[in-house]
Amino acid sequence: MTNRSIIHINEELCNGCGVCISPCAEGALELVDGKAKVIREELCDGAGFCLGVCPTGALTLEVRDADLFSEKAVEDMKIKIAGHYIPQTCNFCHTTEDDAYLLPIKHKGEALWVCTRCLPKLIHQ
Ligand code: SF4
Repeated sequence: MTNRSIIHINEELCNGCGVCISPCAEGALELVDGKAKVIREELCDGAGFCLGVCPTGALTLEVRDADLFSEKAVEDMKIKIAGHYIPQTCNFCHTTEDDAYLLPIKHKGEALWVCTRCLPKLIHQ
């Protein structure tokens, strides 16, 4: 255990949509009984890439005592979940993350994905 940054999930706000599961490259999040859960603390690096995609604001970072992040545990998990992820798509051109880099963005409270091809158009709007 160590005092570090880790994801906090507000169960009251979580609607179980599952949008946060795939963006977590470490496989730390799963839906359990209709709510997102950090299945093992050692898989969550606290980087917060999942925060931007949550449509309800259920995800935040907190600093608390948690198991140390483990690269080894992540590598084992990546082997386990390989081929089972759901590719995200750009909300503007529908390109998948298999074909382009996607970034999470927010607009008027809505969580969106944008690919690097569409991003320049948004910047210049
Ligand atoms: S994206 Fe937000 S609301 Fe949807 S499952 Fe994850 S934490 Fe819950």
